[in-house]
Amino acid sequence: MKKQYTGKHTHPTRKEQQRRREQFSRHAVRLVGSVAAVLLALLVVVPLVKTQQDRAAMRRIDAAVITLPPQEVDTLYISTPEPTAAPKATRAPESVAPTVAARPATADEPVVVDEPVVADEPYDDFDDGTDDYDTVPGAAGATEQPKTAEALLAAGASFEYLPVINTVDTMERKVAITVDDCFQVGNLQKIIKKAYDNGGRLTIFPIGQNLSQPGISETLRKAVQLGFEIENHTWSHARVFRLPEEEMASEIWRQSQALNQCLGMNYEEHFFRCMGGDGEMDQRTHNYLKQLGFLGVAHWSISGSDATPQQLVEHLTPGAVFLFHTTDKDTKTLMKFIPWVVQQGYQLVTLNELLGYPENATSPLSVAEMPEPQDYVPDYRTIHVDEYSWMVVQLQNKLRALGMLQMEGASTGYYGKQTAAAVAAFQSAAGLPATGEADAATQLAILQTS
Ligand SMILES: [Zn+2]
Repeated sequence: MKKQYTGKHTHPTRKEQQRRREQFSRHAVRLVGSVAAVLLALLVVVPLVKTQQDRAAMRRIDAAVITLPPQEVDTLYISTPEPTAAPKATRAPESVAPTVAARPATADEPVVVDEPVVADEPYDDFDDGTDDYDTVPGAAGATEQPKTAEALLAAGASFEYLPVINTVDTMERKVAITVDDCFQVGNLQKIIKKAYDNGGRLTIFPIGQNLSQPGISETLRKAVQLGFEIENHTWSHARVFRLPEEEMASEIWRQSQALNQCLGMNYEEHFFRCMGGDGEMDQRTHNYLKQLGFLGVAHWSISGSDATPQQLVEHLTPGAVFLFHTTDKDTKTLMKFIPWVVQQGYQLVTLNELLGYPENATSPLSVAEMPEPQDYVPDYRTIHVDEYSWMVVQLQNKLRALGMLQMEGASTGYYGKQTAAAVAAFQSAAGLPATGEADAATQLAILQTS
């Protein structure tokens, strides 16, 4: 059956259509208005709230930095000892005393006792007339020393240097800002706050002597609590590569101990930064840093203290390591540079984080005696012009004793043109190629000349 169309529908009248259109328009206008109002509210109110939150956060940090009760921090740290990154080498001293821990060991940390590589005194400072590598085999308590050049070179070649960190290889948009010296505590506080406000963390390299300044203890405790990292920049800003061994060791050890006192806990530093970056490949320094459990020598990929703003901007690349100080000039730069780096989508991280290392381990405060530097066999790496090292000091001492090098005061340990010329003169006299570069054969020849 065919369905019949009844025709009983109602067509709205023209007037009715008009009324509906107007009603629809009114609804639409109201809807758009409401949406706009909400958007406006979001635009205006959210930033206001955010600003308030930021201000509150800044006030909190201010208050924290300035008035943090030391006890609060102490409890915080002492309750959270962390496993250490690397087993800390300790040394069996010559005396009857048991091992002296380089760093206080945590409960689950194995105590490693390194065998001395060779007997005591693998070399001396050449001032006492003894010949260094041919001394007293079989003397009481001494083990046989390697005597031939081949044996010396083979033994030295196995020496492993710590990494020297410049730029860190990473694809992630992460950089490290490092802040050295810390003569100006007020500036240090400003820099820490600026980094923290921008979601960043810094690595701070205070000189040991600056750790007794008023306010620095609270500042660094707070910094560590906020996830910042503190590392070693010598006790007195000394060039350790040219100091007598005991003083070299003391420059490193005293800073670590002073930092522990400053923080109220044992804090295991990972990085050493040389004064001025000089002597970063000094074998003796690496030998002692390894002994103390350090993980690297920290250089930088750009010195922000010397760079122009344009150079800083151009240098922002993944893995960059920026060097700054707490001077007024650098502080001014950092107040702008830190937020700018973050605006570029970069994260400001510590050296540990940039390298994927664990945080510096902590444990309850204790006092330890300075471990005596362990012996090592020199590797006789070829020394080029512009290098700084303890080996250069020894070569200079010997060349001076031979009357082939004139120098005022103590030997500098700097392989400059004058030293290179003296080495070239020695090479000529000894029938070696007069390159002016101190290769292994030249070093051995100089050191073994009486
Ligand atoms: Zn410095």
